Amino acid sequence: MKRKVAQEQNRPNSANAYNHDTNVKQHVSIKQTAFFRFYEELNDFLPEEQYKTTFPYKFIGNPAIKDTIEAIGVPHTEIDLILVDGESVDFVYQMHGGEHVSVYPVFESFDISSPVHLRTRPLRETKFVVDVNLGKLAQKLRLLGFNTLFRNDFIDKEIVELSLKEKRIILTRNKGILKYRAVTHGYWIRNDDPKEQIKEVVNRFQLERNFRPFSRCSCCNGLLRQVEDTLLQERLPNDTLLNFNVFMECKGCRKLYWQGSHYNRICEWIKELKVN
Ligand SMILES: [Zn+2]
Repeated sequence: MKRKVAQEQNRPNSANAYNHDTNVKQHVSIKQTAFFRFYEELNDFLPEEQYKTTFPYKFIGNPAIKDTIEAIGVPHTEIDLILVDGESVDFVYQMHGGEHVSVYPVFESFDISSPVHLRTRPLRETKFVVDVNLGKLAQKLRLLGFNTLFRNDFIDKEIVELSLKEKRIILTRNKGILKYRAVTHGYWIRNDDPKEQIKEVVNRFQLERNFRPFSRCSCCNGLLRQVEDTLLQERLPNDTLLNFNVFMECKGCRKLYWQGSHYNRICEWIKELKVN
């Protein structure tokens, strides 16, 4: 209704050009209010006064609900379901003011019938591309066998392109990347500590059933293959060759791996990750 009034005010009025101009200015600056409530971990993106509560949000015109939610600070990749006055809507829904909006994260369960879930189906193979701040997390994911791209000079645009082209989930500490319109699968890492970050990712993407430890190079992401010790005599000291039975080589950078003391530590760490 408010929109209709504004459009009528906007009509050219040759009899009174001055009033017409004034009305255009009024139309442009009319603010609408809608009421938002974000659920579960989506609250991580909100300031304290908006945390786990319904709050009013003002906007101008009829923006897409996706843009409004991102203006509030929540990346669209974190969202699975939006209800407007109890009805599920998709990202292109146009705001008009007065709505009550409930926003739910990915992996929440809902007590309502046939909602429009916004995420497309999960990607078939869980692969990642991580931002420049997450090198240690990338190494840990590779140790668990997950195909993970990382370079310390990636720019945002490259990360987005790799995500789309190779169907990779973006892991980032930079919320800005997740606001690119094209991004479909991404996750903002909450923790600073890499040990906690890996637990966060394992839980969030339910990775524990897909661990394939010691299959991938932690340095370059290349796949490992077994090599006979007889072929390694010029590359490893004799006592290493005598003390260990299984040797692996990275197909990418040719780094060698064997079951030394770090192997046992990694096995313990993997056991802990599965329990958490
Ligand atoms: Zn390698």
